[in-house]
Amino acid sequence: MRRVSRWDPRDVIAAKRDGAALDPEAIERFVLAYAHGDVGDGPAAAFLMAAVVRGLDARETLAMTRAMIASGDLVTFGDLGRHSVDKHSTGGVADGVTLVFTPLAAALGLAVAKLSGRGLGHTGGTLDKLEAIPGLHTDLEPAAIADQVRSVGCAVAAQSPNLVPADGALYALRDATATVPSIPLIAASVMAKKLAVSTELILLDVKAGSGAFMRTPEDARALAEACLELARGDGRPASAAVTDMSQPLGDAVGNALDIAETVEVLRGEVRGRLRELSVAFAARALGHLHGVAIDDATARAEAALDDGSALDRFRAMIQAQGGDPRVVEDPSGVLPRAPLRIPLIADRGGVLTAVAADRIGSASGALGAGRLRKGDPIDPAVGIVVHPKIGDRVEEGETIGEIHARTEEDADEAAGRTLAALTLGPDPVPPPPLILDWLDGA
Ligand code: URA
Repeated sequence: MRRVSRWDPRDVIAAKRDGAALDPEAIERFVLAYAHGDVGDGPAAAFLMAAVVRGLDARETLAMTRAMIASGDLVTFGDLGRHSVDKHSTGGVADGVTLVFTPLAAALGLAVAKLSGRGLGHTGGTLDKLEAIPGLHTDLEPAAIADQVRSVGCAVAAQSPNLVPADGALYALRDATATVPSIPLIAASVMAKKLAVSTELILLDVKAGSGAFMRTPEDARALAEACLELARGDGRPASAAVTDMSQPLGDAVGNALDIAETVEVLRGEVRGRLRELSVAFAARALGHLHGVAIDDATARAEAALDDGSALDRFRAMIQAQGGDPRVVEDPSGVLPRAPLRIPLIADRGGVLTAVAADRIGSASGALGAGRLRKGDPIDPAVGIVVHPKIGDRVEEGETIGEIHARTEEDADEAAGRTLAALTLGPDPVPPPPLILDWLDGA
């Protein structure tokens, strides 16, 4: 009897393990087989680890991105009557820019369609944060995303069995197997979600620093270039900002806590770096898509935060996705609350000179805000609020934040880990610049 040679996923893993450059077809076949359940988590994890250690070249990264897109449908809009934009962050701590930017850009007359991710490693995820709002769902079908963008101006959705499902599965597996910090894997994951949705402009927020996967601006620039290269390959206009993540961007590290902070920013109640970066992205989008000069675009974005129009779009988006819209009037009444709220007291005085933002993200994860294993449930109520930013003076005994926890033991541990993540010195230091660079794609 003639033997028919069977495809063996171990050949792909072994070739990458040994440092070979894989054929695009081999990567596509492996990724699609995983998405369809024909390759299990074990071999997929081994492949991911080999890719982290050995790297993927530009051709392999493109093949991986295309396979992830091909695992689902595309979101197309036809005539929306307005220009469309998508924005994505490579991940950070207290990084609520997407949550502010999305309704803000919609209030400025743009259409925003966004496929977001969940918490990954020590970083928070937009979907986990949004799902802290009771009733809200992010599992929108492609047609529902398009309808919502037409009626509300914006939508934030998850990968689904029909939308980049391979990224949904690989993303969760990477989170559980310490295979996140790899430029090609991050670029493919981010850009598969962006290229599957046919917007006119893609804006990328590539984070650099202790709370980012890329620790240095140079690595962040390399990641930005890898993403822009994938956009170019598809002929899609894109811009990437390399931005500071050497400390939490906002003050709230959690899920419900992040939403409460988003609402404060959308109400125009708080200034600071989260607002500044959200405004910068909205202005960039308006400048690019409507030809508005950057100063004028910035003033319009500031005004949309101060006059309530961005908040109004946030309310409409929450309602359209089944969430309780009263969250914009009464966040603490609507969002889940942890039973314990314990002040975070500075154990030393001095000027804040550095922050291990990843450690604060991990401390919040350990309270229950993140996942240990693939598919673990998260606790939306818990987390950490920490106010001082680099350059601020802190007095010993001062209340500098709050721990939201289930038990005293958890709270003590999170407080200890957060305080240990702060470096204080005697001399003044300037705040780090927020935007280090803008890089343009096609
Ligand atoms: N954001 C993503 O969508 N994917 C990653 O791998 C990292 C950040």
